[in-house]
Amino acid sequence: MSTSQRYRLRAPSSGSEIITEAQPGRIYVDHASGEPYDVVGKVLPLAPSKSQLPWAVEYLRVCNWCDQFAQRDLNDCPNCGRRMAAL
Ligand SMILES: [Zn+2]
Repeated sequence: MSTSQRYRLRAPSSGSEIITEAQPGRIYVDHASGEPYDVVGKVLPLAPSKSQLPWAVEYLRVCNWCDQFAQRDLNDCPNCGRRMAAL
């Protein structure tokens, strides 16, 4: 289970983005431009979570029990707690 919160960081001039487990108080620098990243947002699911996959549609499936979205790397549905069918 991942306990570190992941953040979406963006370089202001180029717009290039990374997703990383950023630590508070540290400054993260874009290697290409040398400028510090801006924090754009937290990545769902929030830590701690059993899943490493973000809540983007390409990483989601529909639970066969409750018809709610769940990350594809999970075995048990985070909404209803039941074991989901094999993909
Ligand atoms: Zn479910």
